[in-house]
Amino acid sequence: MAYTLFHSTNGQSPPVNLRAALLTGQAPDKGLYLPDTFPQFAPTELAALASLPYHEIAFRVLAKFTGGVIDAASLAALCRDAYNFDVPLETVRGLDRVHVMRLDQGPTASFKDFAARMMARLLGRFVRENGQPLTILTATSGDTGSAVASAFHGIEGIRVVVLFPRSEVSDRQRQQMTTRRGNIRTIAVDGKFDDCQALVKRAFADPALAHLALSSANSINIGRLLPQSVYYFYAASRLAQPGEPIIFTVPSGNFGNLMGAVFAGRMGLPIERLVVPVNGNDEFPRFLATGVYEKIEPSRACLSNAMNVGHPSNLARLVALYDGQMDEAGVIHRAPDLAALQRDLFSTSVSDEDTRATIWEAWQQYRLLLEPHGAVGWFGFVNYAERNRTKGIPAVILETAHPAKFPEEIENVLGFAPEVPPALAALDGLAEVYDRLAVDYAAFRDHLVNACPR
Ligand SMILES: *Cc1c(COP(=O)(O)O)cnc(C)c1O
Repeated sequence: MAYTLFHSTNGQSPPVNLRAALLTGQAPDKGLYLPDTFPQFAPTELAALASLPYHEIAFRVLAKFTGGVIDAASLAALCRDAYNFDVPLETVRGLDRVHVMRLDQGPTASFKDFAARMMARLLGRFVRENGQPLTILTATSGDTGSAVASAFHGIEGIRVVVLFPRSEVSDRQRQQMTTRRGNIRTIAVDGKFDDCQALVKRAFADPALAHLALSSANSINIGRLLPQSVYYFYAASRLAQPGEPIIFTVPSGNFGNLMGAVFAGRMGLPIERLVVPVNGNDEFPRFLATGVYEKIEPSRACLSNAMNVGHPSNLARLVALYDGQMDEAGVIHRAPDLAALQRDLFSTSVSDEDTRATIWEAWQQYRLLLEPHGAVGWFGFVNYAERNRTKGIPAVILETAHPAKFPEEIENVLGFAPEVPPALAALDGLAEVYDRLAVDYAAFRDHLVNACPR
């Protein structure tokens, strides 16, 4: 099988294979890795997915990128092991061909389990092969940290350090990160998500930390994106006729989930339109409308906290895939093909007020239980459907977290608390252990050096 090589969006680093791209996270020129070419699914290959279980579809998608770095039998085993949970496609009562895909059945009840579980298994294997221990540094607004802590827990040769904004995550999100031991360390930062991300970025660029072999499990890592293509293939295989285009709605923050959809499209999956609702951090819908990009600093704190992103790190990839170039600071050096972006994508900003109203309406009208991120998605889809033809076209709205991760908000709006899945309930009463730090790079660096001895 042919190798897929990955190049940097900044164009100043040599192309690398998947192993190197995963191990380093960000390219040396501070750009993000993208596949040189997208391997293709022929129509017959797509049609064959209809009868396969999820883990087998994952294998067929990922195998197109892993030639030369992992053998087929091992990859198939990793996929079986990682994807041992349901991926429900819920029919919305009374609406023709509209479905909610619930990506919340993994161990930490958000869609981030899909990528984290595969990435942990691949990285664990690469680290074993080259014998060099690795430190994964991750800033989180809540769900990445828990998914990464769960997925990497107990993986030999990999140490994980998670930074989260102390007062911006829910109790459940915090419990999921702070009740693990062993190779997982958690740090509560007295600041915002952006502060956590800035600390992490400085650490990556710091020569004094080179001995730690730092890598990232944030969605700057291509290893987070490829597994996120799989569920788009899966949904289409169950809900669309062979060759029939489908509408996907992806509530977005850092645009990693969306990149999975864009990749699937480039690989040959027929897509009618990608609907990209965001919360009050509306830099992307403005950019899509005008071509002018202004990041939001600091990011706005909205109900859908995992989407509080004022400068989506994957935007540089999206711009690159539409023939433009954006650097790591968000400066556009070559404009993308805006008309093509507008043809493929629809984006809208959803207020907290509309998010709450949607949780109420979706329940009243359809008995559809949504948490804030899914509600942003649903509102965006309704908004799209008011302006565009959707009749008869299969549509899938992604619900990215389990309602029980946000019990306060649901109870406020609906008057009852969602049922708690066993994986979350098991955390109640466990002792939490974490460190606390101010937004102070020198203190953070000392902490890392002490926490991760040579
Ligand atoms: C991370 C997250 C998002 C946003 O995903 P991106 O890939 O950053 O766009 C949406 N919903 C939930 C529940 C999340 O955890």
